[in-house]
Amino acid sequence: TRALVRAVDRLLTHADAIRRLRVEANADTAADAARARSLGAQGIGLCRTEHMFLGDRRVLIERVILAKDDTQRQDALDALLPLQRSDFEELLAEMDGLPTTIRLIDPPLHEFLPDLTELSVRVALAAERGEDTPEDIELLAAVRRMHEANPMLGLRGVRLGLVVPGLFALQIRAICEATAVRLAAGGNPHPEIMVPLVGSVQELYLVRDEAREIMADVARERDVSLDIPVGCMIELPRAALTAGRIADAAQFFSFGTNDLTQTTWGFSRDDVEGAFFAEYTDNGVLAVSPFETIDARGVGKLVQIAVEEGRKARPGMTMGVCGEHGGDPESIRFFHAVGLDYVSCSPFRVPVARLEAGRAAIEAGASDSR
Ligand code: PEP
Ligand code: MG
Repeated sequence: TRALVRAVDRLLTHADAIRRLRVEANADTAADAARARSLGAQGIGLCRTEHMFLGDRRVLIERVILAKDDTQRQDALDALLPLQRSDFEELLAEMDGLPTTIRLIDPPLHEFLPDLTELSVRVALAAERGEDTPEDIELLAAVRRMHEANPMLGLRGVRLGLVVPGLFALQIRAICEATAVRLAAGGNPHPEIMVPLVGSVQELYLVRDEAREIMADVARERDVSLDIPVGCMIELPRAALTAGRIADAAQFFSFGTNDLTQTTWGFSRDDVEGAFFAEYTDNGVLAVSPFETIDARGVGKLVQIAVEEGRKARPGMTMGVCGEHGGDPESIRFFHAVGLDYVSCSPFRVPVARLEAGRAAIEAGASDSR
């Protein structure tokens, strides 16, 4: 086995020398980041900050979303700031010197609200016993107001960030403060701020302007210079089609091909197991799920349009992919061909992505010289 490990290492080193695509990883914790680095990741292409609030911390986001007034909301946000600051400090410390793309919170709302049915039953039972409180009734009304039939097509991503005052600002401040702390410690932090689910350039202008203000505030307060790039996910067909305009406000693009596949096909990404994709095959032999592999048709066509339009508006603009396709061999060849700068995938897929990025470069070179 030692000989095998050495052979694989040699192959990977060879691929690294040839490939043009950078390979980064999707990681949400310092432990994931360390694993990703040990497998050769050259950065974090996607840190899903909503994952920092699974489990016990979920209620902290719920409090911000359901706050009844500004004071309640501010208290909830104040409780979050030190937590997020140290989350980001740890991540930046682990990734020292490497790009670390932190995505502003993108929670499907239903995962961060009490379950409507459970809550209704609980309040109804309490009412029967004459024990329901005005708070219960108010909470039920609020949850009912926010309930969505299709949460994955609902108040997500940047839309949520614009509707819930202070939530994105809190995260941006935490990123800036963590960066200042790392700088003061002599580190070399490379954070990037990524805005999810953008559908129109106006949404991005609002967040970008706020980010610039916060960056300037923190730079002044902490006496450091901060120039953190702000970019966005391209994961809606409208974003891909209007990428030329969005590039005015975005310093980089990252393709979220999970949502882009879902919204292009109109097929729920959460119900894809065993789904029938006959349309997708040319030869009728085997239905390959478009959630697994991307090519120049359909979803890939949108990626291609966005790359071209984006770079026309902002020449040399950095672009990558952070959906699951970023670790899929066939898709990696497509991303190389379409001119992306990096792919980002789960840490355990990083070695395969390095290899495939090398193969893509060799194949493209061979066909260029033909
Ligand atoms: C995506 O949509 O491809 C993506 C990377 O974001 P998420 O999977 O978190 O929605
Ligand atoms: Mg997404």
